[in-house]
Amino acid sequence: MVEIFTGNFTQQEPIPEDAIAAAVEVMRHGRLHRYNTAEGELSETALLEQEFAARTGAKYCLAVASGGYAMATALRAVGVQPGDTVLTNAFTLAPVPGSIASVGAKPIYVDVNEALTIDLDDLAAKVDQAKVLLLSHMRGHLCDMERLMQICDAAGVTVIEDCAHTMGASWNGIVSGRFGAVGCYSCQTYKHVNSGEGGLFITDDPEIAARATVLSGSYMLYERHLAAPAPEVFEQVKYVTPNISGRMDNLRAAILRPQLRDLDAQVARWNDRYRALEDGLRDTPGLTLVDRSEVEVYVGSSIQFLLLDWAPEGVQDVLRRCAERGVELKWFGGAEPAAFTSRYDSWRYAEVPSLPKSDRVLAGVIDIRVPLTFSVDDCAQIARIIRSEVAAVFQSHG
Ligand SMILES: *Cc1c(COP(=O)(O)O)cnc(C)c1O
Repeated sequence: MVEIFTGNFTQQEPIPEDAIAAAVEVMRHGRLHRYNTAEGELSETALLEQEFAARTGAKYCLAVASGGYAMATALRAVGVQPGDTVLTNAFTLAPVPGSIASVGAKPIYVDVNEALTIDLDDLAAKVDQAKVLLLSHMRGHLCDMERLMQICDAAGVTVIEDCAHTMGASWNGIVSGRFGAVGCYSCQTYKHVNSGEGGLFITDDPEIAARATVLSGSYMLYERHLAAPAPEVFEQVKYVTPNISGRMDNLRAAILRPQLRDLDAQVARWNDRYRALEDGLRDTPGLTLVDRSEVEVYVGSSIQFLLLDWAPEGVQDVLRRCAERGVELKWFGGAEPAAFTSRYDSWRYAEVPSLPKSDRVLAGVIDIRVPLTFSVDDCAQIARIIRSEVAAVFQSHG
């Protein structure tokens, strides 16, 4: 009998009951704006910031409207000006180059390697072309962070980390988002906590924190923050920093606080599913799994494998055959961007360079979402289906 998978690759878990109760409470009192507080009240948003700062060990935290907004704010707060260049990953998602474009800057893409991380030799070769690196931990793959920081520190390059896929992850015991000057996270539905939209910004630098807070639209009410620098720091920036509104609201913060408390348990559940997929796909002829470093704690909310150096027709065959059996695979090598699989050569508002090394890797990258609504058995079944279809196509294409 041919197995067919019937699950839904984009169905999230419901919002937990304690988060629903917290949201209802905010709606009952009506004070949804983060600065609309009753006498003596601490807003949900300020509490979320305090809790996320404590969780990551950062001195300061700012909650904002989206992950993309957090990155654009980080670029502004570290001083990126229109016309400046910003180093970033060739393999990432559209909000990353989009945030660079939003401040009028120009991306310089650094190659991706077969580990799906930024190619550090290419970074070393290009590091003198910009003052800032917006480093995307795309799909949760962390590069050798010590070596990356050595390269950037030696060149005086400021690092901003895009941790949209690494909330809950760490490298060599250090939380992702704590290597660079700023860490940016997304709380959008498809990430690791779900408020529909939302973002978090962390830093240890008081001036960057103050600028980001004023940028986000603090209406000079920054003293109501619980994870912000002292008021004196704001005195230096408040007249020269524009308000580019992008605050988080108390409703979102209320549903995020209980989810953050559950995050470690959710990470363990994701990784059980990731390992079932990985085990099921191991040693499939023609298919390359992505090795993970021993010092990397990752969050298996998605899994990637490579059909390296396959002809496009073979990859398309695999996608079609898996789809017929209910398994939705995304391919970063397609001729046209589909859904979130756009590539650096799709972002034509910026200069499109020639990156043959990245092209070779991207042409083989297959991406699978792993929602927590899947059971571990579902993941084992998905792996069996992919394995048999990859094997069938690999044999017939020789
Ligand atoms: C989702 C995502 C972001 C941020 O996205 P928002 O939708 O703006 O919250 C940033 N980088 C990557 C790689 C992402 O996938």
